[in-house]
Amino acid sequence: MNAKSLPTATHQMGHDVGGLDVAAIRQDFPLLTTPFHGKPMVYLDSAVSGQIPQIVIERMDHYQRFEHTNVHRGVSTLSQEATDRFEEAREKVRGFLNAASTKEIIWTRGTTEAINLVAQTWGRTNIHPGDEILLSAMEHHANIVPWQMLAAEKGATIRVLPMNDAGELLLEDLDALLTPRTKFLGLIQVSNVLGTINPVKEIIAKAHAKGVCVLVDGAQSVPHLAVDVQDLDADFFVFSGHKLSGPTGIGVLYGKKALLEKMPPWQGGGSMILAVSWEKTTYIGLPGKFEAGTPAITQAIGLGAAIDYLQGIGLERIAAYEQQLLTYATAQLSKIEGLRIIGTAHEKASVISFVLDSIHPHDVGSILDHEGIVVRAGHHCAQPVMQRMGVPATTRASFAYYNTKEDVDALVAGILKVKEIFG
Ligand code: PMP
Repeated sequence: MNAKSLPTATHQMGHDVGGLDVAAIRQDFPLLTTPFHGKPMVYLDSAVSGQIPQIVIERMDHYQRFEHTNVHRGVSTLSQEATDRFEEAREKVRGFLNAASTKEIIWTRGTTEAINLVAQTWGRTNIHPGDEILLSAMEHHANIVPWQMLAAEKGATIRVLPMNDAGELLLEDLDALLTPRTKFLGLIQVSNVLGTINPVKEIIAKAHAKGVCVLVDGAQSVPHLAVDVQDLDADFFVFSGHKLSGPTGIGVLYGKKALLEKMPPWQGGGSMILAVSWEKTTYIGLPGKFEAGTPAITQAIGLGAAIDYLQGIGLERIAAYEQQLLTYATAQLSKIEGLRIIGTAHEKASVISFVLDSIHPHDVGSILDHEGIVVRAGHHCAQPVMQRMGVPATTRASFAYYNTKEDVDALVAGILKVKEIFG
């Protein structure tokens, strides 16, 4: 380890507002404290990507300046230490998900790659002609398209667990949809459009009772809820680092060891082999079997630092604070005439999609942008959700632990300005 010291957390708990010292937290984020279009930055797009605190940026910078080389290669001290940092990050993810072993934590580029890995290894081995793949009506395209591709290849059928107008899954339909042909269930834990928190533990238990394997898309849940994959009994659980105040280019596939061990490798190449000859190649065990080539080392270390940062604040405190913000934002937005919230489930995370009169969400998003307010407008990579809710697109404001009531008030003022412009 180089003599240059590692960055340490500067964030301190102080004057709590609803359980979190948000003013102090905001100081940790260079982007949040830099004006945008000459106005204070109001970042309400954390569902697209969370902002990255200084300490995470510094941790990655430190690695690249003083610790960088390749991992799992060579006997140099530098390589061994880089490998240690990389594997420590894997251990942080294991603890974060409460997985039983680091062998169950596979690095991927993100949620999308993790789902494709499962579809192309577990799926190609276990899905046969005539089988059924069950997906919820509120899946992101990342948990639809890989299964459609597999179904087309294998002659399998996709079935859909419907939802009601509030954006809650119809659990009463589940038993009938779990037929003897159902082999797999893909389930989003928190909807990126509607904010719905699905009762995944209950659904997994029902699926398992019928022998169905379940993958949980946790891309939008890990930033908001403490997740315990053993308690959920998820077979696979996937998420992306960039939604968790970490960098892009890194994500995680958790899989139960017994399942991962039976799955064939996915990509072939260096690092995943035991021995290669022209006649025969053998593979190493978990997790390396699924990690061909040079991994995203800096990003993995960055994700580990992001997990440390979030755990330092406390995931339960984050969840409680965000629920207060959600309640406040829902009440304030509901007062605006002509604004309709899309997604009114009883159990929601701090994500609010809405439509405003007949104004196109892109216009809403552009005007808000000029006010320094960053939201997302569009179909949010969930076109079937738009079709179900009967809207072409929505504007979505998503709130994180670094947002404030003032951010909500700015959003409301911005929306009133949009209404004024469109008369
Ligand atoms: N699933 C959900 C629920 C998401 O919100 C996203 C990102 N919008 C993804 C999957 C895909 O994540 P990534 O682009 O990081 O692979």
